[in-house]
Amino acid sequence: SGPATAALVADMVVDVADFPKTGVLFKDLTPLFADGKAFRGVIDAIVARYAGQFDVVVGVEARGFVLAAAVAYAAGTGVVAVRKAGKLPRVAHSATYSLEYGTATLEISEAAFTPGQRVLVVDDVLATGGTADATLDLVKRAGGELAGFVVLIELGFLGGRERLGERPVHALLRI
Ligand code: AMP
Repeated sequence: SGPATAALVADMVVDVADFPKTGVLFKDLTPLFADGKAFRGVIDAIVARYAGQFDVVVGVEARGFVLAAAVAYAAGTGVVAVRKAGKLPRVAHSATYSLEYGTATLEISEAAFTPGQRVLVVDDVLATGGTADATLDLVKRAGGELAGFVVLIELGFLGGRERLGERPVHALLRI
């Protein structure tokens, strides 16, 4: 259920101060990934919430890959990668977004989806929403129909949800 899953995430996350730079409180979810029971708990919660609503799962490089692959396997769907620039071998859509310092570019294969495929997007943490905004834009440009965007943790004070506007966001744990 919702509260139990939120508690599971809250119990397993480790806060790391000043990573990757001073002033950032990094939410390290690798302990949750490393714990079989907790990992299965969050994957099963995601699959249950979106049961019957998606045909393919998108994961954002790199921690999103771990989650997306598990969700896809549990639901019996395929998985598609949104990657950092320059990694995909075939023609890709690109989306560039601004970070605090400089920019980042994400890409998806133009051949990622069949028309109208319902896409569930998964990532570990929603912070400012730049990564999610670019990813959801890529899904749309590749012809996917957004079924949902789900994260384990939403850092509400950073305004990511507002940046995504009308697009549906679900967080297992909101901080
Ligand atoms: P953003 O684009 O600002 O929403 O950042 C989201 C991406 O950066 C996600 O893919 C996260 O994995 C990572 N990220 C950003 N801030 C944090 C944080 N405080 N703790 C852990 N991961 C973070």
